[in-house]
Amino acid sequence: TAPVITVDGPGGAGKGTLCHLLARHLGWHLLDSGALYRVTAQACLQAGVAWEDEAGAAAIAMALDVVFRPAPEGAVSVLLGGEDVSRAIRTEEGGRGASMVAAYPQVRSALLDRQRAFRRAPGLVADGRDMGTVVFPDAPLKIFLTASAEERARRRHLQLLEKGESVSLPRLLEDIRERDARDSRRAVAPLMPADDALHVDSTSIPVAGVVRRVLRVAVE
Ligand code: C5P
Repeated sequence: TAPVITVDGPGGAGKGTLCHLLARHLGWHLLDSGALYRVTAQACLQAGVAWEDEAGAAAIAMALDVVFRPAPEGAVSVLLGGEDVSRAIRTEEGGRGASMVAAYPQVRSALLDRQRAFRRAPGLVADGRDMGTVVFPDAPLKIFLTASAEERARRRHLQLLEKGESVSLPRLLEDIRERDARDSRRAVAPLMPADDALHVDSTSIPVAGVVRRVLRVAVE
């Protein structure tokens, strides 16, 4: 089977950027598992299924017609039923819906095989919360990437400003803390490092430094 590098950690720690750079550098495939939960939440909205409805959300996840299509400059377009939802799923509200449907065991198991199917030669970089613990427990290299909640809120604030959205910093910090709590307290696949994960704190290192560190370990 193809090798996998798993990258888990709380939202906003820089997993997305790290995984893109690693995948590009290694020429490997990329799994953005958070996007699958975000698309599930979006598909629920479109089908009129409430995020509170576990069985409904699981049925949606099971039948999800999602395609990840490479876009210019290393970006990826997310198509739901042929429609480009890349932007729609990246909103704060989309993240909230994702974390609600992700708390359901039935939704998580509906998405399991789909995630494992991303493991193909020459290799896979998998971005998420439970990549090293549940989805790819045999991965030879597991990273647990963290950063302080304040730093993650600050980064998210800058990102939103660049997109022309302004959400107050205290509000973002509160959202981040709420999502951390929901992700780590849920009964299935709570956010936690795998026993054999390498912990990297990105609070005060720029992402390029993190990439160098991970690649150094990866080639050993
Ligand atoms: O990483 P991203 O912010 O896109 O993930 C959105 C939400 O999906 C997270 O807050 C988390 O609740 C959920 N998620 C998950 N397991 C994963 C990836 C994401 O539960 N492997």
